[in-house]
Amino acid sequence: MTRSFYTQVRPGVASVCADPSATLSKLPFSEQERLFFVRSTGLLDSKASEAFDRITRLASCLLQVPIAAISIVDESRQWFKSRVGIDVSETARNDSFCTCTIESASVLVVEDALTDPRFADSLLVTGDPGIRFYAGVPLHLPSGHALGSLCVIDTQPRKLNDQEIQLLQDLAALAMVQIDLHQMAGRINEVTRLPNRAQLSEDLTNVCLARPGRLDTLLLLEVMSSAQLQSAVRAVGIPPLEAALRTIATILMRSLPEGVDLYHVGETRFAAIYPAAEDRAQDDIAATLLAKISEPFVTDGGITVQLEAHAGLVRYRCNQAETEDALRMATSALHQAEAEQRRWTWYSPGFDMPHKRAFALLRAIPSSLAHGEFRLVYQPKLDLHTARITGVEALARWRHPKFGDVSPAEFVGLMERTTLIHDFTEWVLHKALEQQSIWRAHGIDLTVAVNVSARNLEHPRFLQILRNACALYDAPPQALRLECTENSVMTGTLTAKTLTAVRAMGISISLDDFGVGYSNLSCLHSLPVEILKLDQTLIKPIATDERAFTLIKSLISMGHALGYRMLAEGVETAEVLDLLKHHGCDAAQGYYIARPLEADAIAEFLEVSRGPNLQGMR
Ligand code: C2E
Ligand code: MG
Ligand code: MG
Repeated sequence: MTRSFYTQVRPGVASVCADPSATLSKLPFSEQERLFFVRSTGLLDSKASEAFDRITRLASCLLQVPIAAISIVDESRQWFKSRVGIDVSETARNDSFCTCTIESASVLVVEDALTDPRFADSLLVTGDPGIRFYAGVPLHLPSGHALGSLCVIDTQPRKLNDQEIQLLQDLAALAMVQIDLHQMAGRINEVTRLPNRAQLSEDLTNVCLARPGRLDTLLLLEVMSSAQLQSAVRAVGIPPLEAALRTIATILMRSLPEGVDLYHVGETRFAAIYPAAEDRAQDDIAATLLAKISEPFVTDGGITVQLEAHAGLVRYRCNQAETEDALRMATSALHQAEAEQRRWTWYSPGFDMPHKRAFALLRAIPSSLAHGEFRLVYQPKLDLHTARITGVEALARWRHPKFGDVSPAEFVGLMERTTLIHDFTEWVLHKALEQQSIWRAHGIDLTVAVNVSARNLEHPRFLQILRNACALYDAPPQALRLECTENSVMTGTLTAKTLTAVRAMGISISLDDFGVGYSNLSCLHSLPVEILKLDQTLIKPIATDERAFTLIKSLISMGHALGYRMLAEGVETAEVLDLLKHHGCDAAQGYYIARPLEADAIAEFLEVSRGPNLQGMR
């Protein structure tokens, strides 16, 4: 694929918009597609630039007009990358002359707007700045999409001669060079000067638009692992390593078939796209590259290097969905090659499945949250001193139309790797406190425990989110509990600080899954925790395993000695409940008492639990 960073300004002159009835749908590209390319330039709302301002100043001066601008036409506005003689940074697209310019293939000249039926009523003509004369040259991106225009404006009617039109076109060509340079700045790898990952993504899209339906291959090559890279940096330092990468890039470029571009997409990763052929031929490309790059070579700095490179290959159809996923699939194939210690592998959905599912689930979460596909269920907690249900734990459930029921262990784990966990916990807090206020209104007083993740506690706005939620539902702080896992609160001073502030708000904190994590008791002592929630794996065997029973007995008395309330989770039988009650455990939760229940089943459960059915628990 050959890439031209330079764009021509289309030749030709039209004294009015080429076809006044022309609509955007008649253009070779859809408006949505054009907007995609316009936005991907990163120019909209970018900082002022002297390079662009010089061009508008020249235009204003050479053509002797009070106003000149480089306008970018966005969805509903035109935004000025550079302007002379205009105060505002943007105007509505409807009123703009430049919208007409981008619809024409040539220079648009309006000698007197007041006599032109298309513009006579425009607010820019009837109001400020009172345009009478306008000339604009459309600026086209390499993809052919119109970005905006370079235009000159006067408040007096006037004409342009051929020489002046040529001048305007030359200035527009200069503006395009600046736009190309601006785009290149973020699309070139600084070390090898090869197109980078951003350029690869753009080219993948461009190929897809230019040749929809074609079968292509994406090859991703890792020339050394990150561990090898680290030790190379330690051994030789950065400049010799960069020199080695340049040599590697040269070897790879020479080994690729004619016309196939090489991309430098990660520190030690390179990529290439080429039309798919028979497997054999493509294996040959990968084999040639890997053979060449495995030969020892001497860098500019005189160091001899021998690499152990791996490659991942994926064949994909040029349509939007497959193109967007191509790099991820090639990365999966590369991981597979490394895991199986093969020099290269083709993408295999089997190897990719867990990652693919994780990726698909993560993508589905925001809209599922918005569309009510998450809900909370509530598991009752029994106070073993009063034999009353005093609270519930809110547990999230997700039923996705395609994936079905997804377990919280899976989706919470995924969310914790991203910032989604913050929105999710905020949603859980709101939902749980809202439900609690509904119960309160019906005379049901229950504490509600909400599980929070370590990452939530590190979030700078966590306390604010908590305060806002409590205020919104008028929730008394003592009716809310936060459950944090033992490991999560032992991790940092920041979490400890947040927990102290939470405690100061009057909200109590339970340490979830206690007994299976760190159990750094000296550290625990300094945390503002009130309740230790004994993990279910310790609770379940106590009726049958003497040592497990001794351990729980000791943990209960130790916890009490240190001033904690002890809560047991995972109580599945009457025997276990009995043992816990007789050894002073304060509260219990588990399937024997109740499974997690839907919100509207809680009232009935409370009613029944007061009756004879649960007498055995007392
Ligand atoms: P967890 O907070 O320790 O919750 C207890 C888990 O044990 C729940 O599983 C509950 O349904 C289950 N359970 C309760 N009693 C019994 C029993 O007697 N026997 C057995 N075998 N299991 C019992 P679930 O709902 O699948 O939740 C798993 C974990 O996912 C939770 O462990 C919690 O860490 C996390 N989670 C659930 N909802 C949320 C949430 O809203 N936010 C966050 N951050 N984590 C959540
Ligand atoms: Mg919990
Ligand atoms: Mg637990």
